[in-house]
Amino acid sequence: MDESAMSHNTTHIRIGHGWDLHRLEPLPPDGAGRPLRLGGVALEHDRGPASHSDGDALLHAITDALLGAIGEPDIGQLFPDTEPSHENADSADFLAEACRRMAESGWQLSNLDATIICQQPPIAPHKGEILQQLASLLDCDEDQLNVKGKTHEHVDAVGEGRAIEVHVVVLLIRA
Ligand SMILES: [Zn+2]
Repeated sequence: MDESAMSHNTTHIRIGHGWDLHRLEPLPPDGAGRPLRLGGVALEHDRGPASHSDGDALLHAITDALLGAIGEPDIGQLFPDTEPSHENADSADFLAEACRRMAESGWQLSNLDATIICQQPPIAPHKGEILQQLASLLDCDEDQLNVKGKTHEHVDAVGEGRAIEVHVVVLLIRA
């Protein structure tokens, strides 16, 4: 590879990784779980995330992946859960801020790949709706996005239904 091609590669793409985990608790009155939301989509489940905001682990992981790719502070630094105004916050607002920063610094999403790990509920039946909602929030085409659901084989907290975990990678290109 010659030098110009190498500098092209290093300055015109950025990769970002985001990870999030929330404890899943029974819904009130038995616990403090919030209604389960993933990618802005409500999912029927008898447990939900314990969280200061709406606890949307997919949106949190995407937000962190975008912020990571552009080298900005992470979601916990931008929106600390000690800040009362973030109580019940819509996680779409966190993502919107990450998108604003991405555009401002001259980058745009090329593609995103997400893996949601939970024992219940199954993700596959909701994939279409989640992709549609993400495309709208990220202002991109659905074919730039991929979401996979995995179980945790009944082991550890995630496999016992006590937590949900999400991994996201994004690739950004120059806008
Ligand atoms: Zn989170």
